[in-house]
Amino acid sequence: MKTPYLEIDLSKLHSNAKKLVTMFGARGVEITGVTKSVLGEPIIANCLVSAGISSLGDSRLENIIRMRNANVQALLTLIRTPSAREAHDIVTYADVSFNTELSVIAELSKTAIKQKKTHDIILMVEMGDLREGILRQDLGRTIEAVIQMKGVRIIGLGTNLACFNGIKPTRYNMDHFSRLTETYERKYGIQLRIISGGNSANFDWVIGNDNKGRINNVRLGEAILLGRETLSRKHIDGLHLDAISLVAEIIESKIKPSLPEGETGQDAFGNTPVLEDKGEMLRSIVALGKQDVDVAGLIPMTDVDILGSSSDHILLDATRAPLRVGDQIRFSVNYAALLSSMTSPFVGSVFIQPDGPL
Ligand SMILES: *Cc1c(COP(=O)(O)O)cnc(C)c1O
Repeated sequence: MKTPYLEIDLSKLHSNAKKLVTMFGARGVEITGVTKSVLGEPIIANCLVSAGISSLGDSRLENIIRMRNANVQALLTLIRTPSAREAHDIVTYADVSFNTELSVIAELSKTAIKQKKTHDIILMVEMGDLREGILRQDLGRTIEAVIQMKGVRIIGLGTNLACFNGIKPTRYNMDHFSRLTETYERKYGIQLRIISGGNSANFDWVIGNDNKGRINNVRLGEAILLGRETLSRKHIDGLHLDAISLVAEIIESKIKPSLPEGETGQDAFGNTPVLEDKGEMLRSIVALGKQDVDVAGLIPMTDVDILGSSSDHILLDATRAPLRVGDQIRFSVNYAALLSSMTSPFVGSVFIQPDGPL
């Protein structure tokens, strides 16, 4: 098998998804599976669907199109607020899109009328994290304007916290968001079916809070794929942390000094290394580097230390667990490492198929 590759264990992913569907379902919250970090890979999308997730979200139109063309049987939502230039493809390929800009919604409306379709939209509301979202004082005016447009229909509200500024979903901001729903339903006589309260950072709020108000949906990527909630990166009980791992090969392994020889200047990335003399060590080089993955997001699954990395190499201190040339080493990945390695043209994917039907 050509390395490096991401090894994706479909039974473990399926089990993670199914457990979350059950946990959240018991609390009246539906899951939209977020596929952006796996580029809308249809094998993974289908795995989530078979685990009971019937709604998938992605921030990239390319990934939505990929899933649509693969005939993935789920509601497909574009979860990044789109560009008006993408209107044609959004209306063609996405069932729903998240929106915050009237000019873009107007373009979606025009396009939908042309295609003789109704395009469903969810308006994103700013609740404190200051990434995307309509300001609360502008929400009424926006809803009023969209109701006038043909070809588009508001089916819900959404909000996104803990992404840009790490603002936590709490009873306070979630209740506030929930109350907005009722206010505007009453005011404009509309029905808001999908109230999407957040992402994997909402785990504790969903599990630990009895009153969900009107919130009946969250969008989960990392929790399903990596088994963690994202406010403190706690392991979610019963979920696999190793459904996805990264495998690469050792291309040099030699006992060398821990201190370099000669005068010190900058390294390839403009840093000046500061080193400690640990005597001689077994220095093993992995054929994997910054062009393949965000190295800071890797944890070796054997007892070795990462000394550093350059574009194409990771240097390991393998003194405690000797590695030979040709050996493969496995790393667990965090979200940044998953995102970067999935996106690198140098990293393949290998799917471990379940033994029997899931
Ligand atoms: C990426 C993203 C998510 C999923 O976030 P996770 O932390 O992976 O659960 C949810 N909503 C939006 C708008 C996103 O961009």
